[in-house]
Amino acid sequence: MFDSHCHLTDGRFDKDRAAVLDTARDAGVTRMVTIGSNLADSRAAAGLAKEHPEIWATSGVHPHEVSDAKDSDLGAVRELAATRAEVVAIGETGLDYFYDHSPRELQSRWFEAHFEIAADLDLPIVIHTRAAEDDTIAILRNAPGSVRKVLHCFTGSMKLLEVGLEEGCYVSFAGIITFSKFEGQDAVRAVPEARLLAETDAPYLAPVPRRGKRNEPAFVTHVVTALADIRGGRAEAVAETTMENANRFYALPS
Ligand SMILES: [Zn+2]
Ligand SMILES: [Zn+2]
Repeated sequence: MFDSHCHLTDGRFDKDRAAVLDTARDAGVTRMVTIGSNLADSRAAAGLAKEHPEIWATSGVHPHEVSDAKDSDLGAVRELAATRAEVVAIGETGLDYFYDHSPRELQSRWFEAHFEIAADLDLPIVIHTRAAEDDTIAILRNAPGSVRKVLHCFTGSMKLLEVGLEEGCYVSFAGIITFSKFEGQDAVRAVPEARLLAETDAPYLAPVPRRGKRNEPAFVTHVVTALADIRGGRAEAVAETTMENANRFYALPS
């Protein structure tokens, strides 16, 4: 299995990171991409990826964090992605109007700037979007079409899904799809097989039956099982498909 989006640099893994990676391997999770949330975190992610052949990293500033970032961080994000082989994507970037931790105008500006970097470096982009569908759609419509994109931890409307698919996005689902109150089954079913990814977003959002605990990459197995249950089919097949898709998305050797 491939956990296409996790945050292994998070402080909640500081005490037992090696054990978490062992548990992942024992659960059959053989590849992970650890996502950068700001410049320092992206550097840490690249460092962790360099130490572990099963881990790759991304470089970017999360919309929550852009109000604390310096303009010069953008150049440094680009530099990190351009110079480090372990860095395989730009992000996570996007828009989050649910929390509004950063001014919306600033979130948009950084989102567009991340797209420019991705286009320049020919790297895919990891998109976080919450409660910001109209502005996300507008930016997707204007984005350089050549860039591979993923809507990560998808919980949006069918409209956002349709636009995203039209614009060539991959769609990644996380542990939310295992919650009893989850209502996005139609979206889960509507993603073409070749665009489907699985992720944990660990340490956040642990899936049932681990809900409320710290999430970790091993638990992507619960996401894969839920994808199979909702879409119909075998978990083994979903594991294989999401592995192939993540390899293609991040341009990794299979
Ligand atoms: Zn996110
Ligand atoms: Zn994330």
